[in-house]
Amino acid sequence: MIKVAVNGYGTIGKRVADAVACQPDMEIVGVSKTSMNADAYVAKARGYPLYIADLSKRADFEDAGVPVAGSVAEMITKADVVVDATPGGVGLKNRPMYEQHGVRAIYQGGEKHATAGFSFNSSVNYDEARGRQFVRVVSCNTTGLVRIINEVDRAFGVGKVRAVMVRRGGDPGDVKRGPIDAIVLDPVTLPSHHGPDVQSVLPHIEITTAAMIVPTTFMHMHAVQMTLKRPATREQVIELFRAHSRIGLVKGPSGIRSSAELKEYMQDIGRPRSDMWENGVFEESVSVVDGTELWLFQAIHQEADVVVENVDAIRAIASDVPAAESIRMTEEALGFVALG
Ligand code: NAD
Repeated sequence: MIKVAVNGYGTIGKRVADAVACQPDMEIVGVSKTSMNADAYVAKARGYPLYIADLSKRADFEDAGVPVAGSVAEMITKADVVVDATPGGVGLKNRPMYEQHGVRAIYQGGEKHATAGFSFNSSVNYDEARGRQFVRVVSCNTTGLVRIINEVDRAFGVGKVRAVMVRRGGDPGDVKRGPIDAIVLDPVTLPSHHGPDVQSVLPHIEITTAAMIVPTTFMHMHAVQMTLKRPATREQVIELFRAHSRIGLVKGPSGIRSSAELKEYMQDIGRPRSDMWENGVFEESVSVVDGTELWLFQAIHQEADVVVENVDAIRAIASDVPAAESIRMTEEALGFVALG
């Protein structure tokens, strides 16, 4: 069994912990937090030993009825792999602690590429992650872009990519984030950071991105355009996506045209926390103009798509399970079913 600790039990960390706990070859040895809140009760209910970053706050947890197993430094001595899901920038500060204990760590997209020195996507570079101490799972938007660009590139060759991201203002529990009533250009200049971030996994792809933030909490919506080096038909592209388990096709007859309806659909099919782990490519939007210009819309669930990548990243650095087998195991344990 691969022993996994989750340092930072928040939006991403709690999902990764549950996804790890249901894998046949992994176990959770601990999760950690900084301050007492509802997530600590969730960790207790799940039976995960809870460690805290600052032991002077121990009484806050124990007075609230949540036992504290020890410090973060103690937690990582029990782990083969730490998934660092602390807020962006904290992971860099944690790196000396991981180095000192010789423990492997997986960072999230809020950290820079340089913090790990290797940016990961299971469909692209799983094998190259082998033996590394540090790996970074790229952000939710970058993961969604990399999945489709890589598939299209392998089949037809991608000349250049232009993508506009309409991003959620905050996660559902982020009561202090916005906007409440605005469309914010973020940034107003081009490119947004997403294009260069895609190149941290797919360095040969020429890509320019623009991004804005809107008042919603569930999912980002991408408008993506790619030029193809070899001509393709719309049907060929859809077949390509259908064959990839992490590219879900939102079918026309479903009537779904929005993130809100997709959330409802995820709830109805019984996904934990309404999570959509795969890209939601709107099948009807897939269009090929003049044989070489591909257009599509896709929805990306910001809280979920990176979760399955984290599980594969753990196997990539801490086991000899091949990529295809890891992806299959991850999805089987979670009960993946095709979207349509
Ligand atoms: P979050 O704020 O929801 O959770 C962070 C958790 O880390 C909290 O429980 C906090 O108590 C804990 N924490 C803070 N400092 C700590 C420390 N020093 N030691 C241990 N625990 C500490 O954050 P999040 O949204 O889950 O983001 C985590 C990472 O995942 C970031 O790099 C972020 O950019 C990335 N990410 C977030 C999303 C998203 O939509 N939320 C999507 C993809 C990637």
